Amino acid sequence: MSRLISRDPFARQELHREVVASSQTCGNCGGFRWRGGRKLQALFRYSTETDGGRTFDHRGLFCSKSCHDSYHS
Ligand SMILES: [Zn+2]
Repeated sequence: MSRLISRDPFARQELHREVVASSQTCGNCGGFRWRGGRKLQALFRYSTETDGGRTFDHRGLFCSKSCHDSYHS
């Protein structure tokens, strides 16, 4: 189940992300996600959903939106 992160009203599309279980490191910074001092075996996968109902997965798994943005910009 993906969660809405942001919406671009001009492009009529939304950025979503979902948590993916993975032992990989972040595709941008090589880090992990942490919670309460524990390393999480999960990263975020981002996708674009258009108002037309189409979904495009973005390549890579990331620890944060800022890592996603810097990788894909
Ligand atoms: Zn990262």
